[in-house]
Amino acid sequence: MAKEKVPCDDKSYDAIIVGGGPAGITAAIYLARRKLCVLVLYEKLGGQAALTADIENYAGFKFITGTDFTQKLEEHLEEYDITNKETKVTEIKQTKEGFLVKTKEKHFLGKTVIIGSGARQRKLRVPGEEEYLNKGVAYCATCDAPLFRGKNVAIIGGGNSALEAAIQLEKYAEKIYIITINKDLEGEKVLIDKVKSFKNSEIICCSKTKEIKGKVFVESVIIEDDKNKTKEIKVGGVFVEIGYIPNSEIFKGKKNDYKEIIIDSKNKTSIQGIFAAGDVTAVQVKQIIVAAGEGAKAAVSCAEYLNRL
Ligand SMILES: Cc1cc2nc3c(=O)[nH]c(=O)nc-3n(C[C@H](O)[C@H](O)[C@H](O)COP(=O)(O)OP(=O)(O)OC[C@H]3O[C@@H](n4cnc5c(N)ncnc54)[C@H](O)[C@@H]3O)c2cc1C
Repeated sequence: MAKEKVPCDDKSYDAIIVGGGPAGITAAIYLARRKLCVLVLYEKLGGQAALTADIENYAGFKFITGTDFTQKLEEHLEEYDITNKETKVTEIKQTKEGFLVKTKEKHFLGKTVIIGSGARQRKLRVPGEEEYLNKGVAYCATCDAPLFRGKNVAIIGGGNSALEAAIQLEKYAEKIYIITINKDLEGEKVLIDKVKSFKNSEIICCSKTKEIKGKVFVESVIIEDDKNKTKEIKVGGVFVEIGYIPNSEIFKGKKNDYKEIIIDSKNKTSIQGIFAAGDVTAVQVKQIIVAAGEGAKAAVSCAEYLNRL
């Protein structure tokens, strides 16, 4: 199919979408199909989906890797006349002319904005975490698991992210310690059962991570249990899997206590003309299929808003 050209005034886009994950790309496709002039700005195409090893819960795909899914998003985006740029948005400023979306290199003007900027990994903030980054400290098991072949590793966290990391690492690591501050693992039961069935995994509950130690590379992790007893566990790697922080700093409107953008049922934010979708919002379920659906809803609301302008 030849790309259908959309008359586009790059001095003022109909919509500027921040985010190239499932939410942002879906929103872009929906708007382009309405012949609107769209600009998509993202730091990493695919977003968190690109970091996912195996996606098995997106209807229509029994199984797809995160890399293949990202490739499909990119191919679908390229079917349409959508301008897209890899860059970081630093500010969204409301002006008389519209929304000024600022990046380091350039400023873009849009009549509306859809924020689909997702979330990023939470840091542990203990001594050694920064020092041993990429020297044994890692945040993406999908990306880095093969580097820990034959090593003992610690996974810090006990939720879905930690469980997914354990599933990745089981194939490579000699032994996996899953260290959680909670009494037990928390997350999807199917994942918990799978991880508990691994012969090479040990769950250490009720324990805080105090320090990551090493020489050139990570050599151990110091933990403290709920009776203040400390213990040193010899590991060659530490995967920090303690949840996510919404990338919502660029939005100056209403957010909840977790810094998630508050939206209504039509994905409108507290600022007229700005819509939001996916993991950056207070939507309950943080999953690809939900982010994509929310992106579609945000686009339809945005198009309705533009019609009324
Ligand atoms: C390891 C892992 C495994 C997962 N496994 C699954 C799974 O199996 N199934 C499932 O359904 N979900 C899974 N998820 C969750 C799923 O990936 C997310 O719910 C989904 O990607 C959210 O989509 P999103 O578009 O809202 O945000 P994201 O995917 O986070 O995308 C955000 C986008 O915004 C961009 N961005 C952020 N800030 C800025 C900025 N300032 N300027 C420009 N661009 C910016 C990013 O570069 C990215 O392109 C997993 C997540 C992780 C981390």
